[in-house]
Amino acid sequence: MISKPDEQIILLGGGVAGLATGLELARRGRQVTVIEKGPVAGGLAQTFQYETPAGVFRFDIGGHRFHSHKPEIIGWVQDLMGADLLYVPRISRIYLSDDGKAGGKFVDYPLQFPGALSIFSPGQAVKILSSYAAATVRNRLDGSGPDVSFEDWVVRRFGRALYEVYFEPYTEKVWGISCQDLSADWAAQRISLPSLSEAVKRAISPGAAPPATIISHFWYPRLGFGMIPNRMKREIERLGGRVLLGTGATGVTPLESGGFAVTINDGRGSQILDADRVISSIPMNFLLACLPTESGSRQVAEDFKLRYRDIILIYLAIKTRQVSNDSWTYFPGRSLLVGRTHEPKNWSPLMAPDGYTSLAAEVFTSQGEPTWEQADEVLVQRAVDDLTGIGFMTAGSLHQGWVKRVRFAYPVYDIGYADKVKTVRQFLAQWPNLHLVGRTGSFRYMNSDGVIEDALRMADYLTGVRGEYVDVSQGYKVD
Ligand SMILES: Cc1cc2nc3c(=O)[nH]c(=O)nc-3n(C[C@H](O)[C@H](O)[C@H](O)COP(=O)(O)OP(=O)(O)OC[C@H]3O[C@@H](n4cnc5c(N)ncnc54)[C@H](O)[C@@H]3O)c2cc1C
Repeated sequence: MISKPDEQIILLGGGVAGLATGLELARRGRQVTVIEKGPVAGGLAQTFQYETPAGVFRFDIGGHRFHSHKPEIIGWVQDLMGADLLYVPRISRIYLSDDGKAGGKFVDYPLQFPGALSIFSPGQAVKILSSYAAATVRNRLDGSGPDVSFEDWVVRRFGRALYEVYFEPYTEKVWGISCQDLSADWAAQRISLPSLSEAVKRAISPGAAPPATIISHFWYPRLGFGMIPNRMKREIERLGGRVLLGTGATGVTPLESGGFAVTINDGRGSQILDADRVISSIPMNFLLACLPTESGSRQVAEDFKLRYRDIILIYLAIKTRQVSNDSWTYFPGRSLLVGRTHEPKNWSPLMAPDGYTSLAAEVFTSQGEPTWEQADEVLVQRAVDDLTGIGFMTAGSLHQGWVKRVRFAYPVYDIGYADKVKTVRQFLAQWPNLHLVGRTGSFRYMNSDGVIEDALRMADYLTGVRGEYVDVSQGYKVD
């Protein structure tokens, strides 16, 4: 057992990672204090609420559906949430057109073949199929070389034509970098589009197995995903732990005892808390900035700068019953500001008042880019113009709009990121009682299910249930 039953554990960050780890440790009798900079629990998984004369509109930071391939993880969340979890059908579509503007078509997402070929002109469909066939043959003959970039990975498996019309535009829109600079790891973790090859196989051998399908349903809390972290917070407090909101960690000073003096600030002043152990889920760069300069942490941060992608959410309250049936709708077109929308009421009827619905439009950008600096009213208008221009939303139906800018939304898997993360982790390993958990804090692209599993594995390791810490991100697939 690594952690002693009576030790004080401080968790930096009150997102899903910090809260789930804190909760599991509190359940196993540890004294935990979660330090969260933001005014509410949940980090990226929180739900915002807007009161209007028409009623309350609720929005996640981009829709957060809960799903796991592991019954144990689903069970963990079900135990926490009880009857507050709804089981929701998943319907995703993508708007594909030549220029991303009017005249395009909405089709199932991910593309399902061979039906999806019908959205392309016959000439383009032939090009896609022949380039796919050529890629498959090439891959069979010489498929041994490593894939370095996202582009390498996709073109090798699906051919250049499909890459250009389908994979490249949305991926570059999300990440803001060329697919040649994005690591192949991202593709391997994210893409499951076996249906083109399976469709071809089935066409030539009709007895072959049906195609693998994506998940058809997911779990969602009645009042938004933020109910999950709020419930974790409540449980931690019920077990005697503390969750300090509106309180940032500003210093983490290693002590000779192996513990740490953690400086926190709640906006009224600073104080120091002693901890036997610190578990961090705050952005890696922030943790490095909290450590003493003489340790060399600032230099490590400078030399191995890790990039995170930010996001803007444009929340639209709409005076109509429903915009579409979709859980998510994807807009890869470069000429559209909006990259993806979801309609919260399709996830839970309590997300918008009667007679109204809403859309959360995601705009992939980063602080410092021109879009980030645009006024809220301009962003709302641009989103409405995009969505009405292609006929998705009805002109004149906007009731009210709000904008949220969210930093550190995605760890960027650019080429070379893995070596940088490894170096930073090696640097931090000089403090055996300092641990990293979650997505943001350990720079591992995982959804909340992976983050919860990571929290459980960390608690297992620290309390001696397992002899070693199991990195759940190895082989983790986002779908
Ligand atoms: C647009 C979008 C859509 C998503 N959709 C889904 C989905 O559908 N399903 C799903 O399961 N997952 C989804 N995710 C992923 C999910 O949000 C994350 O996996 C999860 O929330 C990460 O939790 P975390 O605790 O690791 O990180 P975070 O939520 O980033 O938590 C880190 C916390 O640290 C705090 N912090 C930072 N600095 C300090 C400091 N100095 N002191 C104290 N606190 C500090 C931050 O305020 C934050 O609360 C989505 C993410 C995004 C961005």
